[in-house]
Amino acid sequence: MGTPRDAGMRLVMLGAPGAGKGTQADRLAVRYGIPHVSTGDLFRANLSQGTALGQTAQRFMSQGQLVPDEVTEAMAWERLNAGDAETGYILDGFPRNVAQAQHFESKLVLAQQSLRAVVHIYVEPVVLERRLTGRRTCPGCKASYHVVFNPPALAGICDACGAELVQRDDDRPETVKKRLEVYMDETAPLVNYYSERGLLVMVDGNWPVDNVTDAILARLEGDRGHD
Ligand code: AMP
Repeated sequence: MGTPRDAGMRLVMLGAPGAGKGTQADRLAVRYGIPHVSTGDLFRANLSQGTALGQTAQRFMSQGQLVPDEVTEAMAWERLNAGDAETGYILDGFPRNVAQAQHFESKLVLAQQSLRAVVHIYVEPVVLERRLTGRRTCPGCKASYHVVFNPPALAGICDACGAELVQRDDDRPETVKKRLEVYMDETAPLVNYYSERGLLVMVDGNWPVDNVTDAILARLEGDRGHD
């Protein structure tokens, strides 16, 4: 895919909600000096700013459903064309179904750009549910915690900025179940889609965060290793 001159570091993180895409995307973004673009975060930012887009998205997000493709695709493509994403980006939460992947691919082809790889982080379903319902996030600096696996020093308070941690509305048990179903039905087919295109890098996400980062870097950078 793409032209030989296209050296952009464009990565897609693929995996179920709770697989650790956001955490790993943050680390990769720092390593490569490129932005972490999360469509979920973009929707949440719109919601907190009270935009029309945010209000539309909220109707779907609160039910664990996907926001309609046209809305999501336009928002994602605009963000990916911002100046800071010129040399690459770590895309998290998009594409989320085959239609979005096809649309994204056609946009990339037109722009003479290509994806470097699609990192699929695989985690056992029972672990996903536990991770999501125990997740707490900082509304200030976006740091992510888990009440059991990664608690803050002081319960309910962000270690990094002192803000009070919250549970995302869609991390409540009823919505988590729906999000995992939607993932299996709509997003999981992307594993085959990208495998057929020779882009898929599979990583076992059941391990602790540092091990998963090491595994991703080993796959992306091969023998060059990582520090
Ligand atoms: P996330 O933070 O990635 O778990 O996304 C939270 C919610 O935002 C999802 O459950 C969807 O409602 C919505 N969302 C995020 N990315 C997409 C996308 N690519 N397509 C449709 N809806 C999305």
